[in-house]
Amino acid sequence: MNDKAFHNIDIPSFQHDLIDWYQSNKRDLPWRKDQDPYKVWVSEIMLQQTKVDTVIPYFKRFIEKYPTLFDLANADQQDVLKMWEGLGYYSRARNLQNAVREVASEYEGVVPANEKELGSLKGVGPYTKGAILSIAFNQPVPAVDGNVMRVLSRVLKIEDDIAQPKVKKEFETYVHELISNEDPSSFNQGIMELGALVCTPKSPMCMLCPVQEHCKAFAEGIEEDLPVKSKAKKQKKIPYVVLLIRNKHNQYVIEKRPDEGLLANLYQFPMVPAAEIGMDHMENWIQMEYGLKIKLTEKKGKLKHVFSHIIWQLEIMEADTDAEEVNDGRIRFVSHDELRDFPFPVSHQKMMKYVRES
Ligand code: SF4
Repeated sequence: MNDKAFHNIDIPSFQHDLIDWYQSNKRDLPWRKDQDPYKVWVSEIMLQQTKVDTVIPYFKRFIEKYPTLFDLANADQQDVLKMWEGLGYYSRARNLQNAVREVASEYEGVVPANEKELGSLKGVGPYTKGAILSIAFNQPVPAVDGNVMRVLSRVLKIEDDIAQPKVKKEFETYVHELISNEDPSSFNQGIMELGALVCTPKSPMCMLCPVQEHCKAFAEGIEEDLPVKSKAKKQKKIPYVVLLIRNKHNQYVIEKRPDEGLLANLYQFPMVPAAEIGMDHMENWIQMEYGLKIKLTEKKGKLKHVFSHIIWQLEIMEADTDAEEVNDGRIRFVSHDELRDFPFPVSHQKMMKYVRES
C-alpha cells in the first residue's frame, strides 16, 4: 500500500463532495428504484463487462419474469439462459442461479448480509459482495472494479499497475480508508457514477468534476496518464467453419455445448475446427463426429467473435443432408420456428439471417 496516497486529502470533505454530487446527478436506473438485495445482485452481475445502456432492457425483462429470488431459484436453467441471450459471459447467469438456489434453500430466501456467507456464494466475488453489502445493506465495504480503480488512481495519484491482482487488493484498502460510514451506499455508487460520467477513461471532464480540488492527478496535469495498466496478452485466434445443415423438411441441426467451459449449455450450429480439418475433409469429419452424412453447398458469410481470451474466426457454410433424425445425443433437428426456443450465443444468433424460413 502506498502510504503517501492520503497526504493532503481531506477525507470528510472528499466524501461530502462526492456524495452531494451523486445525490443530485445520479441516473435514474431501474435497479435504483429500491434497495432489494436480490435486484441489486442481479443488476451487479449483469453490469459486469457490460454497458449500462445494454443492461437496462435485460434487467427489466429479467425482473419482470423473475420478480423474486424464489422465482429465479425455481426457474428452468435453459429459460434463464434464454433471458440472458445476447448479454454474453453466460457463466454469470448459471452462477447467479446456482447461488440464488443456495440462498433459497440454506437461508430461507434471505440474501445474507455478512461478508463471509455472501462471499461464499457462487459467482459472488469481492466486487459483487461489496456492491450488495454497501448498496442494499448500507455497510461500509469496498466494491472495487476497473472504474473505481481509474478514479481513485487519479484522485490519489497511484501509479501501480492496476492489471495486477495484488494492486486491486490495495485499492480495497484505500476504499476502506476513504468510504463514508454514514452513507457507504452513495459513496460507492458515487465513485462508480463519477467514473462512468465524468472521470472517463479518455478525456476526463475535470472542469465539471465535483472532487477536482481533491484530485492529485489533476493538480499535476497527469490525469490522462493514469491509471497505469499493462496490456493484456493478445487473444488467440481460432478459425472454425460453422455448418448450417438442413434436411428436406427445412429442419436445421443444432448442437448443445458441454456442461462446463465456454458458453456451457448454450446451443449452436455445429462448428468444425478449421485449423485441423481442411475444407476437403469437412463432410467426412461431420460423419465421423456426429454420424451424419452431409453435402456442403454454399458459403454464406464470415464473422468474428471476440472473447476475453480468444477470437473465433467463423466462416459460415450451408450444407444439405438426407437424414431426418440423428443418433448423437449432442445434436438435434429443429424447425425454423423452434430455433427461437433455444439459447444461442451472440455469434450464432447473428447467423440466423442465413437460416431459410422454408
Ligand atoms: Fe477524474 Fe479529473 Fe475528477 Fe480527477 S479531477 S477525479 S482526473 S475527472
